[in-house]
Amino acid sequence: MNILPKWKLFLWKLLHNGIATKVNLGRRGIQLSMTCDLCGAGEEDIQHLFRFCDIAQQVWRSGSLGIHSEINETMSFKEWFMFYVRLFQRQDGKNIPRCTYFISTLWGLWLARNNRIFRNEVTIVSVVFAFIKIGLDQHGILQQQRRPLVRLLHPPEGNTAFPPGFFTVILAGVEDRGPISTIVIDGSWHKNTRNAGMGWFLENQHIPNDRILGGAQARTAESTLQAEVLVCLLSLRWASQAGIGRVTSLSDSHRLVELLHSDAAMDIQLIWTLAEIRRIGKTFNWCCINKVDRDRVQDAHELAKAASTYLVSFSNFPSSSNCS
Ligand SMILES: [Zn+2]
Repeated sequence: MNILPKWKLFLWKLLHNGIATKVNLGRRGIQLSMTCDLCGAGEEDIQHLFRFCDIAQQVWRSGSLGIHSEINETMSFKEWFMFYVRLFQRQDGKNIPRCTYFISTLWGLWLARNNRIFRNEVTIVSVVFAFIKIGLDQHGILQQQRRPLVRLLHPPEGNTAFPPGFFTVILAGVEDRGPISTIVIDGSWHKNTRNAGMGWFLENQHIPNDRILGGAQARTAESTLQAEVLVCLLSLRWASQAGIGRVTSLSDSHRLVELLHSDAAMDIQLIWTLAEIRRIGKTFNWCCINKVDRDRVQDAHELAKAASTYLVSFSNFPSSSNCS
């Protein structure tokens, strides 16, 4: 992972339970109270400090990831950690902002705890978030983001300030160990001609260099949003026909994900398409639509633009041995 060296060392210690919690110090023969300084209840081992402590639970719950760290309490810390890292990496592909946020939260909890013990400073949730912010700033994850970080830490519903990878809708499935196919999608629309283009392709597949696994379609539409919603449906239909069982679609349309989240009344032209997306989504073992940066969907955008400009349509399926 491309993360701060101090985080690597920290994680290495954490995963080998070599971090100087009170319980670990006690095991090494150092005489001290085992009680957690943050909450005054419970012994300070890594499970308590990073998952079960009141402060930790509040930080995870109110952070961008919305994790309930007290769930699955029988999981060891290492299992719990690896569960989330693998989950985020599978769902986000190469972009790993949630993974970084996850690690930064652990780091923030550790700094806040040290601050409490060594400087006797008060630890409240906002202190931990301040440390998380410092960590993220150092990591540089938000260098491209113009909006202030406070938006990331307390994202209101439907806010467009979610960093790429944070805004997502899961239409079907629970995480399992099977591979997930990533489909990159985009829609394009010409206001003057009302021609819309929809483009999608399967990512990271070994294919002959002149053949895209995916498709494009041209038709008329009333808005860019309609094109974005249509490409979502078309790509899921394609994935279903291609025999793909687990799929994550990457779209740069925040509104698409937002509409799939809510059942609120909406544009009549979109209602049927959205209902159909939800229906077909449920036929997959895993189906998730993930809002990403525009740069991330550039190739799909080219496809969509070509379709809407030259009114071309095509559909290529992988040979059955290639897909999962
Ligand atoms: Zn505690």
